[in-house]
Amino acid sequence: MSLPFVYEALPSRVVFGAGSLQKLPEEIDKLGASRALVLCTPEQRAIGADIVVMLGARSAGVFDGAVMHVPVAVAEEARDKARRLHVDCCVAIGGGSTTGLAKAIALTSGLPILAIPTTYAGSEMTPIWGLTEDGVKKTGRDVRVLPKTVIYDPVLTTSLPVALSVTSGINAIAHCVEALYSRDANPIISLIAEEGIRALAAGLPEVVKQPGNLDARSRALYGAWLGGVSLGAVGMALHHKLCHTLGGTFNLPHAETHTVVLPHAVAYNATAAPEAMRRIARALGAHSASEALYDLAASLGAPVSLQSLGMRREQLDQAADLAVQNPYYNPRQVTREGVRMLLENAFTGTRPTV
Ligand code: NAD
Repeated sequence: MSLPFVYEALPSRVVFGAGSLQKLPEEIDKLGASRALVLCTPEQRAIGADIVVMLGARSAGVFDGAVMHVPVAVAEEARDKARRLHVDCCVAIGGGSTTGLAKAIALTSGLPILAIPTTYAGSEMTPIWGLTEDGVKKTGRDVRVLPKTVIYDPVLTTSLPVALSVTSGINAIAHCVEALYSRDANPIISLIAEEGIRALAAGLPEVVKQPGNLDARSRALYGAWLGGVSLGAVGMALHHKLCHTLGGTFNLPHAETHTVVLPHAVAYNATAAPEAMRRIARALGAHSASEALYDLAASLGAPVSLQSLGMRREQLDQAADLAVQNPYYNPRQVTREGVRMLLENAFTGTRPTV
């Protein structure tokens, strides 16, 4: 390890463990807050209502309109509610969409966020926000949107459907994978990222077998936390860029797209990032990082082809064009031809052999 590096720790408090949701009222007090706006999706309205009851006088109300990719109109509505109710913090219970809405509020108001993640997406550990207007998603970094406190309670993830648990978990593995060959890679985050892959690869098969098993859920959620830390700390590369393009332009589902593309992005980068590949393979207990990632997804019953997600072959050229439009960091040079080939393999779901 001879490379120079920069490491910046992000300030956040993590409360982890089965039953830790019970600590919510005292965690609100620790934040110095007393009037929370509870945020959730329409699908998670019931748990949002439970949180309001649990908070009692510490709750000012609930906004249950969180949706994928944070449309500006929804963000404005939620900001307006936060202003009208004079809240002094947001409690986001749900996945990346709900955390994303809290971030949109924090971005303009500076209100602190207490996040209670119920998927493995990892947004709760990052200072990255995203807002969608006229079909275009803008993202940025601002430490004001980083949740101040995160409560990880594996009990809340037992209701996450198995298929979404698997793809959401592989989404978290993708954060770890790209952290290992990031331009900003550093020894601490690489330790975290490798451990994140190991925890998720061990936890997810157990989750599939027994979705209600709290040990398995804890292990997977622990890995998801480490994935979020990795994503928040260092820049990503080709895989995340491709998934962002595919999701944004062709409206493909977020976690499933990550699951399909990951083995192919890793195969693309294999020769350019040998140390990262060694660590990914080690965490998966395998010889080849890309093959093991493909096999993990397939063995867990996850989709392995873009075709099965509803993408059409005639969209592949446009996707390749978009993916090379703006230059960005990747360990291996990103060429139109190389990306087109990668997309072809991801489209058909061919097992990589690198
Ligand atoms: P999501 O938040 O959209 O949730 C998907 C669905 O599952 C929703 O209907 C939700 O209510 C439901 N759900 C969530 N947890 C559940 C549970 N435990 N039981 C039952 N249902 C549950 O999905 P996601 O994958 O967590 O988030 C995706 C979004 O997050 C994308 O917009 C992505 O861009 C964003 N994201 C942002 C960052 C960041 O750092 N800013 C990081 C990762 C993801």
